[in-house]
Amino acid sequence: MPNPTREALAVIAETAMTPPHTQPTNGGFGSPEYDVIVVGGGPAGSAAASIAARGGATVLLLERNVGPTFKIGESLMPETYWTLAKMGVLDRVKKAGFVEKHSVQFFSKSGKGSAPFYFDSMNEHESAQTWQVHRADFDELLMDNASEQGAEVVRGCSVRQVLFDGDQACGVSVRTSEGETVELGALAVVDATGQGNLIPRAQKLERLDYGLAHAAVFTHWQGAYRERGRDEGATIILHTEDGGSWFWYIPLANDVVSVGVVGDQQALITDSDLMPHEIFFAEVEKCAEIKRRIAGAVQCRPLQVLKDFSYKNLQHAGDGWVLVGDAYSFIDPVYSSGVFLALKSGEMAAEAILDGLDSNDLSASQLGRFEAELQKGMDAVLGLVRSFYSPDFSFGGFLRNYPQHQEAVTKILIGDVFESDFSAFFDHVAEYQQAGADLGSVSG
Ligand SMILES: Cc1cc2nc3c(=O)[nH]c(=O)nc-3n(C[C@H](O)[C@H](O)[C@H](O)COP(=O)(O)OP(=O)(O)OC[C@H]3O[C@@H](n4cnc5c(N)ncnc54)[C@H](O)[C@@H]3O)c2cc1C
Repeated sequence: MPNPTREALAVIAETAMTPPHTQPTNGGFGSPEYDVIVVGGGPAGSAAASIAARGGATVLLLERNVGPTFKIGESLMPETYWTLAKMGVLDRVKKAGFVEKHSVQFFSKSGKGSAPFYFDSMNEHESAQTWQVHRADFDELLMDNASEQGAEVVRGCSVRQVLFDGDQACGVSVRTSEGETVELGALAVVDATGQGNLIPRAQKLERLDYGLAHAAVFTHWQGAYRERGRDEGATIILHTEDGGSWFWYIPLANDVVSVGVVGDQQALITDSDLMPHEIFFAEVEKCAEIKRRIAGAVQCRPLQVLKDFSYKNLQHAGDGWVLVGDAYSFIDPVYSSGVFLALKSGEMAAEAILDGLDSNDLSASQLGRFEAELQKGMDAVLGLVRSFYSPDFSFGGFLRNYPQHQEAVTKILIGDVFESDFSAFFDHVAEYQQAGADLGSVSG
């Protein structure tokens, strides 16, 4: 796609990149300059790199981990299907041996299970079925695919900073696995560093706090209870009996189940004198169904704690740069929307960049052109997340009162959030919560 304006941009990138005090070498990279440099090889970065490379751009994807690495975020939403297809990786995902996920089910604090939300009740297409994934394997598969689609993928490289010429991003400074510092030029830089937030931290971007100050304590179990047949891979969300926290139960391949508890950060972690394993098992004691499911199973990962994960950066793109995935925003783990939104925003960014390369426009407004569309979908997820944490909401109770909204709930749970208008649904959610608040309680 060569043209004068792109060449001019490349000259800016080259001259701005080399401050006199450094001695840059090419560090074994295929080129000193790329159309697109993607920082971070999670789902958002691999989606952006694969789709940009398939569209004809020269792409470098840089990931700091040397090899497959454990990550949380194991349950996918069905609508990931479409981005995986655009990345050219769908067939490999189908054949990778991940556990099939057909539904999600909620247990109230009284221990009562909702009817499972089967995704194919609203969608007969094969995209109604999705997967529960070991993220180390999934992320490797997506990065390998980016490479097969034509991106240069380099692992073991940590990007230290994004380079700017004035306000225009023009490349990155990288620490290679050999300990060498290398500067590379790019017409567009995609920040897909997840909660690392490379550009937002460097630019001190203002953050919106969603007011969802939650923490999670989680681990893996070998040999825990599994349903048979198509319910084997269901995600189960279970409230503890005091309603103060909830568990996820995500069956993975190799007879492993991912189990985590999420609760108010202050109450669960900050104000607690307990060690993480004591916190976890104290919460298990408050959830008979989880206790039953892991009885006799063997814990096969150390417990891990995460907190401060919900936010949105208020600036989404600048001249020559764009944020995707968690580097832009993460809402909450409850509906497993993180990987879906990471893939989708990576796809949207790649398409904006490809069009920008064609029209010589890599401005903030071009690279961030999808913000309103992405935000619309995120708002639907965020609205249902807020309902979940409201003491005056339960899925069972709400749907008994408003059965016409089964479709809206299922659409949000599968990630079909970009086309539909959910305003009538959220009006009725507010009405139901108000009625519950007026009565003082809601039955599950
Ligand atoms: C408790 C919890 C449970 C969750 N459960 C789910 C779930 O069940 N389902 C779901 O869909 N989502 C879940 N999520 C969210 C999910 O984990 C994230 O939304 C998702 O991983 C975001 O993908 P990403 O590509 O934006 O970032 P990441 O997957 O975090 O990838 C970022 C990559 O960038 C690399 N990187 C960072 N800095 C640099 C650098 N300077 N140079 C080079 N590389 C760098 C990192 O090594 C990493 O590989 C959960 C989140 C939490 C906190």
